Amino acid sequence: MNQHTRFNLPICLAVEEDAFFHSDEIVRRYIPEITGQKTIIVSEQFLIDIYQEKISDISSDFGGAEIVAITSASFDQAVSIAKKVCIEDIKVIIGIGGGRVLDTAKYAAHISKAVYICMPTSLSNDSLASPFSVLETEGMTRKTIACKIPTAIIVDTNMIIAAPVGQTLSGIGDTIAKHTALFDWKLCAAKTSSNVEDFAYALARMSYDSVYHCDEKDLKSRVFIRILSRALVMGGLAMEIAGSSRPCSGSEHLFAHAIEEYYPRIKISHGLAVAMGSIPACIFQQQTPEGLISFFHTYGLDFNPQTYGITEDIFADLWLKARNVRPGRISILSETEYDRSQLNDIYNRMVES
Ligand SMILES: [Zn+2]
Repeated sequence: MNQHTRFNLPICLAVEEDAFFHSDEIVRRYIPEITGQKTIIVSEQFLIDIYQEKISDISSDFGGAEIVAITSASFDQAVSIAKKVCIEDIKVIIGIGGGRVLDTAKYAAHISKAVYICMPTSLSNDSLASPFSVLETEGMTRKTIACKIPTAIIVDTNMIIAAPVGQTLSGIGDTIAKHTALFDWKLCAAKTSSNVEDFAYALARMSYDSVYHCDEKDLKSRVFIRILSRALVMGGLAMEIAGSSRPCSGSEHLFAHAIEEYYPRIKISHGLAVAMGSIPACIFQQQTPEGLISFFHTYGLDFNPQTYGITEDIFADLWLKARNVRPGRISILSETEYDRSQLNDIYNRMVES
């Protein structure tokens, strides 16, 4: 399908040191029409407490913007913010936080048609620029819902460097997942006699390559943070251009979704779950996982299932569930005959390496 008339790109992408201190100048340079418009800041209470000074500075820079703390990353929460935005004639939503905040603020902006400015405090996944929000619907069930990508993305490299390393590792995992996702996308295209969107494919591939082949191995260095920020944003744009999450989400994501849906007690971040899933996915795809394994070792990304309480039985069950967790999603899992002894071998290899 030709999507070329259907995509939006952010107007502004700033990845700078201390960018949060002059976010108003950055945004007004690109979107002058928002000057003087009523603005709301969406964040989370613990972040408002940690970054009190920064967030209140941003609030005063944007005309005394009200600061709202979300209590959940739910559909209802996004709708209630959108309702407030519409009723109070608010024109700009600034999301300051991690994936939960950004997904909620992004969806609230989508339904209220407000300008959305995304200001991540960590790089835990590609939600900062993706055309989707993952929101809780009924209880803990989460749904991925299409929405408009941000109008502006401002990454303050100092904020990201100060964030817990686990968050950055999670962002690395979500970027590296593209290796197996792109394989599955091509496989799906071949099975359905369709084509992958070449430009979206190239963007996602470059996003992956820029991190995978990055010479800078220090997670706290500005160079690495800049590369990772842009890689995550490019992944988001690839999804926007493709009109689907396929460039960034394949069988490794199905594995992560199976954890979320069937084993919610297992505490593992999205990015680490997809990183863990990418090793078996690679093997199912008959690619060698050695490159990924040594890459994860280099950055200290722990993909050992035991670390997260995933036993051999759970591991095998997760792969069975992964195949059906998103009906209609064609991937290598659709044609993999699971063999319990092979799954056990993969599990043990991951535990031992
Ligand atoms: Zn992801």
